[in-house]
This record gives sequence, structure tokens and C-alpha cells, in this order.
Amino acid sequence: MKKRFLFGSVVKQSLIYMLLMGLAIGILFVPLAQKFLGLPKEKTYTVEFFTITIISGLIVGGISYLILRITILARLKEFLKGIELISKNIFDYQMGQISTIRECKNCYVKIHSSDIIGHLATKYNFLIRIIRSEFFQHETLKDYSNLIGKAVQIEELNNNTVNFFCKHLDLLGLQIYKTTTNGKLSLIKAKGIHTNLTNDMRKSLLDILDEGKEKEIKKELIVDYGTAKIKPKYTIFFPVKYFSKEWLFVIYSNYHLTKERKSLITRVLSEYKKAYESAEIYEKMQDMAAIDELTGLYNRRFGMKRLQEEYKRALRMEKPLSLIMFDIDHFKKINDTYGHQAGDYILSTIGKIFSENLRSGDIVMRYGGEEFLGVLCNSKAEGAKKRAEEIREKIENFNFVYRDYKIPITISGGISIFDVEKDKQKTPEDLIREADEALYIAKRTGRNKIVTYATL
Ligand code: GH3
Ligand code: MG
Ligand code: MG
Repeated sequence: MKKRFLFGSVVKQSLIYMLLMGLAIGILFVPLAQKFLGLPKEKTYTVEFFTITIISGLIVGGISYLILRITILARLKEFLKGIELISKNIFDYQMGQISTIRECKNCYVKIHSSDIIGHLATKYNFLIRIIRSEFFQHETLKDYSNLIGKAVQIEELNNNTVNFFCKHLDLLGLQIYKTTTNGKLSLIKAKGIHTNLTNDMRKSLLDILDEGKEKEIKKELIVDYGTAKIKPKYTIFFPVKYFSKEWLFVIYSNYHLTKERKSLITRVLSEYKKAYESAEIYEKMQDMAAIDELTGLYNRRFGMKRLQEEYKRALRMEKPLSLIMFDIDHFKKINDTYGHQAGDYILSTIGKIFSENLRSGDIVMRYGGEEFLGVLCNSKAEGAKKRAEEIREKIENFNFVYRDYKIPITISGGISIFDVEKDKQKTPEDLIREADEALYIAKRTGRNKIVTYATL
């Protein structure tokens, strides 16, 4: 409001100046007319003549003021309109009333003039472009942060990142390479473009990584796009470093990426590397929370979660599931005779033998102190029994040597079966109880044997 008042007063001042100028011209015109036009004194030095010249002067002043209004002030009003519009947009955005100001196209002024006003218009439009671009970047970064905030695992983060890029930047495709521990580049995620770069190309990519600067090549690479081979107009490499980690983002595009777009990509990638670090820490913590330190197997808490998942999958797919519970025979005596460390060695070796002798999709966990539980997916009673017997025999025949002591070890096992056709109502807890009961029978009837609950 204050600005408007001042602005108004400048206009009033101009009016007053122009009228005064008109008045002065009117007054000056009288002696000038007499001197240069040779008009007689008695005609010029009259009230009528003074009045006419003053009125004429005032009219000229008034017309000058009107011309000023039409030319300069009208244009200044356009600036004002633009400023008001962009300010309102920014204010509404900050108040959360609108979610974007990307569309503020009316904020530009359309003044084509070669003087200072035209110059001002060009600078003003440039300023608006920067503001819009900054907001565009800010909004895009916010969208990206929201998206990756939900991704706690690296795979999810990479998926979300390539999808985000392809959607927001209208790219042909994107590839993420990462250096491995042996210093080579490995493709960790791709979208759109399927070509895996050749070894020679990878070497030059390593050079780009070393230089640490983005690089663009035009129409040089032939790549696989769907089922076709294409030559993207632009391929841009963005190296990213974060402490000892390095990535190379390869962007394939058929349109030229402006400086602003490239700067946006760099900013998004800066968010990516931090999110990667967090996802990596999260995954490590998950592993730590899931793994039993001594045996390297799942701990009971995590193993039971996995059992629940496999149980649900078995129900859904209508596939059988078997549980094998092992317990080391007379383990207390082994600890007492050879020491606790010898006991630990036996536990970790048995854990290894157990997991090595199940299929890759099966689950093995350390269920208790010297108890192990295996979840065999898609396995019926005969299969589970056969596998359990094999493991039991392997352990019986295994040469456990701790320091100089050869320690004979046997285990007992109990099996329970989830046959989805017969016993849909059986829960994972029922299955554990049944395996435990079968194991108890194995212990009671001589140890070093396997008992199946279903045949009890
Ligand atoms: P059984 O044949 O009936 O199973 O006899 P057992 O002696 O194996 O049975 P029990 O359950 O009485 O003993 C289990 C022993 O396992 C007791 C405990 O000291 C030992 N144990 C449990 N966890 C660990 C561990 O992490 N390391 C070592 N060394 N021993 C452990
Ligand atoms: Mg026990
Ligand atoms: Mg035991």
C-alpha cells in the first residue's frame, strides 16, 4: 500500500511539473512573441493574450502528462500486474493453497521496446524465468524426496529413482552403474535402454568418474530400446561420489537437456546418494537384527517372520510345507567335557551343514541354544524325511575336531508337515509344536534319529 502511495505521488509530481512547465511556456511566450514575431506591445501585454498563452501552455502540459500515462505508466502497470501475480502465486504456494507455481505463464510481460523499458522487461522476464525454474526444481526435489522417503531398501530406491527420472524428464532411458569393490563398473539398474555397455566403453566411463564432471555425447552410441536398436540424440553421463562410493548415471534422451535440467539432475542425484547411504545402513541393521552371530543363520525372531510368510505363500499357492527341528544330542555333556568354545564351534559347523544341505529357497534358523529349525518349501513328508536323514547322517559322520579333540556328534530331529489340502486350519504355531513333539519322541526313543509327526 505504501508503495502504491509513493507511486501515486510520482505521477502527481509529474502532472504538477508538466502543468508548471506549460504555465512557464505560456508566460514566456508573451515577451518572446513580442520580440521575435514583432507583435505590438499593446496586443501582447494584455490580460486576454496572457490568458490565452497560459491556457495553451497548460493544455500542452496536460497533453504531455496524458502521453506519459499512455506510454510509460501503462507499461509500468504491466510490470506491476506481473509482480502481483507471481507474488500471489508464491504466497499461495507457501500457504499450501496451491501445489505448484510452475504454470505462472501470465507473470511474464510482453513489452517489445529498444529503450530502457524494453531492457527492463527483458531482465524482468529473465528474473521470472529463474524464479519459476527454481520453484520447478524445488517442487521436483520435494516430489523425489517424498518418493525415496518411502524406499528403505536399495532395490526400491533404485527402482523409484529410474522411474522418477523417466517420468519427470521424459527420457528414453536411464542406467545406473556403480563401482564394485574390485574397482569395476557394474550395472545395477536400468530402465528403457537395455544395452549393457562394452568393456571398452566401461573403461572410458571410469575416466569420466575420475574426472568427476558430467559429460555429454551426441549420436554416438547405438543402444537397445525395446526390440529396436536406436541412436539417442544425447547421452549424458553424471558421475556421483559419496565418500568411497561411486556411481555413474547414464541418461539417454532425444531432446537437449538445458542447463537448468542438468542442474536439477545433479541436485536429485545429490539426494540419491544420501538416500543410498541410509538404505544401506538400514539393510545392514536389518541383517544384523535378523542374523544369529554365532551360526550366521536367521535368528528365531526373524526366522519366525519368514516362516509366517512362507506359510501364507504355501496356502496361496496350495503347496505343501515341511518343518524339521534338530537338537544336538547330549550337548550339555559336550560343553562340560570340551569347553564352551568347543560347543560354539560345533554349533556353527552344524548350522553350516544344515543350511548347505537344504535348497536355496528354504529357511534355516537357530531356534534355540542348540536347536535348529528348517522350513522346507514345497516339500512333502517323504522329501523332508529323506533330507533330514541325510543331514543327520552327515553330522554323525562329520569329523568334528576342536584343538586336538575329535568330538563325536549326533543330532535328533522332528518333522511336521503342512499339507494344504488336508489341514488348512493348521497354523505355523501348530507346525512348530508338532515338530517339537516329534523331536521329543526321537529323544525319548534313543536319539540320533528322525521322527515325523504325521506318522506318530
Ligand atoms: P539332549 O540330548 O536331551 O538334547 O541333551 P542336551 O544336553 O543337549 O540338552 P539340554 O537342553 O539339557 O542342553 C542344552 C545345552 O546347550 C545347554 C547349554 O549350555 C548349551 N548351549 C545353549 N546355547 C549354547 C551356546 O550358544 N553355546 C554353547 N557352547 N552351548 C550352548
Ligand atoms: Mg535342547
Ligand atoms: Mg540337546
